[in-house]
Amino acid sequence: MNTSPDLLMSLARPQARGLPDYNAGLSPATVRQRYGLSPEQPLACLASNENPFGASLAVGRVLAELALSGEFSRYPDARCSALRAAIAAGTGVAPERLVFGNGSEDLLKLLCEVFLQPGDRVLTQRPAFGLHEIYPRMMGAELELLELTEAMTFDVDAWCTALARGPKLAFVPNPSNPVGCAFDQAAMKRLLAATPAHTVLVLDEAYYEYARLEPDYPEVLDLLRARSGPWIVLRTFSKAWGLAGLRVGYGMASDAALVALLDKVRSPFNVNHAAQCAALAAWNDAAHMQASVARTVLLREALVVRLQALVQPGRPGQALAGLRIAPSVANFLFLDLGHPSGPVAEALLAHGVIVKPWKEPGFTHCLRVSIGTEDDNLRFVQALLQVLDDIPEPAHAQVA
Ligand SMILES: *Cc1c(COP(=O)(O)O)cnc(C)c1O
Repeated sequence: MNTSPDLLMSLARPQARGLPDYNAGLSPATVRQRYGLSPEQPLACLASNENPFGASLAVGRVLAELALSGEFSRYPDARCSALRAAIAAGTGVAPERLVFGNGSEDLLKLLCEVFLQPGDRVLTQRPAFGLHEIYPRMMGAELELLELTEAMTFDVDAWCTALARGPKLAFVPNPSNPVGCAFDQAAMKRLLAATPAHTVLVLDEAYYEYARLEPDYPEVLDLLRARSGPWIVLRTFSKAWGLAGLRVGYGMASDAALVALLDKVRSPFNVNHAAQCAALAAWNDAAHMQASVARTVLLREALVVRLQALVQPGRPGQALAGLRIAPSVANFLFLDLGHPSGPVAEALLAHGVIVKPWKEPGFTHCLRVSIGTEDDNLRFVQALLQVLDDIPEPAHAQVA
């Protein structure tokens, strides 16, 4: 017999009970099945900001060697020693100030578990990366969400004011996911100067490897040296390094004592052996990562130009007339379609194009599309035009 749902709910912590579901999107296999797409039809998987060019070939070699060795019976190294040494050497951050996670999502959760109690205040922006909201709520914290400017960029003044009020913890995404905007060097200096020492400052740099190609993007580790107060910079192997499926992220913290606190709540073997081997192999082939990042940035700019050309009067893309494109320094674009994005994203699936429609109130006209290969991006644009042309007039009228 099943447990009654009411009983389960009454047993659960209220903070857990009330959490929204994470919007992880549909897997390619599910899309194929649901829309009857043949195995030959290429899918454009543009919903999760993955690297379409994949990881270094060295990763495959190392995993093949591991598979042949058959050595899976031992627990992994709980300290990720080899990877720790490599990242310490590459970043100049002392090994004891590094912490590793099963993806950097894992580290977001550990930070909330260590620092947040019911009633604590957490600051971040809107639209938010889902877990910057979900994990604080899980701990019973109160969220303050800052709005974007009209130009879909960070409101630096609002950030400085809100940081100066001393939230317990602040998630500063740089660049923002889903928007793609970034704080430049001058803005970041102001943010850091505004933040009191008792605020735990979390800089989420999941797209660092893309953003750092911008001339004004801050090397935040240099700026943070002057800060007295706890901070941590989070990066990941999931995006530019092409290892989303293996789950490795890392944090560079102000103090070894901060890492020691995270270690208390960290599940000891949170990064599995295959993932550690793969991340190390990827790290040692930075040239591969840099080449794929450079390609992606060029393709992003090409996609912006293509979309902008389509909204010019007299062009075939009349259906895109209301389109706004947020400036992005990452491997995705955030588009305001000017009318509800949910049905558009749904219709794109039937064309084999998977994107992420935004569901947060106030942003339901927006969707986020990752930069894919040239073919993926072209398929997205063509499918988008068709889908928008097919949407019945009343849907257009409603939004105006
Ligand atoms: C993708 C992403 C992450 C982390 O992803 P992991 O796969 O867990 O490393 C963290 N923060 C933001 C803003 C992201 O977009």
